Amino acid sequence: MKAAVLKAVNEIGCETVAAPTLAPGDLLIKVRAATICGTDIRILRGRKTAGVRYPSVLGHEFSGEIADTGGHSQFHVGEAVAVCPAFACGSCDACTRGAENLCRNLVAMGYEIDGAFADYVRVPAQGVASGNVFPLPQGLSFEAAALAEPLSCVINGQERVGVALGDTVAVLGAGPIGLLHVQLAKLSGASKIIVSQRSALRREAALAAGADHVINPQDENVVERVRALTGGAGVDVAICAIGDPGLANDAIRMVRPRGRVSLFAGFVKGLQAELDVNAIHYSELVVTGAFGLTRRQFGLALDLIASGKINAPSLISHRFPLEDFTAAVATAEQGSAIKVAITST
Ligand SMILES: [Zn+2]
Ligand SMILES: [Zn+2]
Repeated sequence: MKAAVLKAVNEIGCETVAAPTLAPGDLLIKVRAATICGTDIRILRGRKTAGVRYPSVLGHEFSGEIADTGGHSQFHVGEAVAVCPAFACGSCDACTRGAENLCRNLVAMGYEIDGAFADYVRVPAQGVASGNVFPLPQGLSFEAAALAEPLSCVINGQERVGVALGDTVAVLGAGPIGLLHVQLAKLSGASKIIVSQRSALRREAALAAGADHVINPQDENVVERVRALTGGAGVDVAICAIGDPGLANDAIRMVRPRGRVSLFAGFVKGLQAELDVNAIHYSELVVTGAFGLTRRQFGLALDLIASGKINAPSLISHRFPLEDFTAAVATAEQGSAIKVAITST
C-alpha cells in the first residue's frame, strides 16, 4: 500500500510500504479521508516530539470503510466509520475520575501507533473493544466525518472553560480550530463573538463562521478593542487558539472579573512564559488548559456535524491524493488554506 512515511524531522514522503499486519481482534480500515492537523505540522517540523517515532505514519483525523472486521460481528466489510483515535486504559486515576482524555496510559493513533496518512490503517483490538470505532451517521461525508476529531477537542476545550448562553467570547486565532470554536460558541448561545486574526482570508472565514467582530492584531490593540466592544467590561471567555505564550497575557487582560481563559492551543515543548499573575489574582480569573478528547465528545461531534449544526465541510479548503502528500503539507503551511484533506475513492 501507499503511505506518507515520516522518517525524520522535515522528512516525509509518499512511498510503498507493507500493509498493516493484523493481530486477532484488530480492525482494518481503508482510509477515505484524512485531514492535516496543526499537530501533524508541528511534529513534521520538530516542534513536537513527545510520543513521536521514526519512521512512522501520522494522521489522527480520519474516516473510511472497514476492510477487515477482525471478527467483530457488530461491524461489516464496507461499513463507513470514524475513529476516536485516543485509546484510554479505563483503570488509571485519570480514567476512573472520568478524564479519559488525560489517561496515563493513553495510546494515540498517529503518534504511538501508525495513523491514517495511508491507504489502510489498523485499529488495534483495544480501540475496538473500548468502543472507539463509530459508524458514520447516514449521509455524512467521509471528509466531514474526519473533522469529528478536531471538533471533539474543541468541545472538550469549551466544556473546560464553560461557554454558556449569553456569554461574550473572544477567540484568538482563526485557523480551523479557531473557526470551530466560533461555530461551537455560537451554537452554545454566545451573545457576542470577537475574533483576532492576522490573515484577511481567515478574518473573512471567521465572519462566515459566525463571529460578530473581527480584529486585525497588526492594526489594533486587541485587548483595548475587545474591552471597547464589551462596554469596557471585557469578555466572559477568552480562548487562545494559537500556541503563542505572549497571547496568554492578552487573553487574561481581555476578560471581565471572574472571566475564564482557555489555553487551548499546544505550545512548543519546554516553553515558559511570564504571566500577569496579579490580573488572575485580583480579578478571580479561571485559567484552564485543554487536551484531547473523550469518546462521548467524539460521538457528540459526529452528531453535530451530521445534523449540520456545525458546518464542517465549510472548513475544507483543499483536497489532495495521498501521492501528493508533500504538496498537501506545503499548502497546509501557507496562509491561504483552512483545512487540507487527503482523500481517496
Ligand atoms: Zn488534530
Ligand atoms: Zn487510563
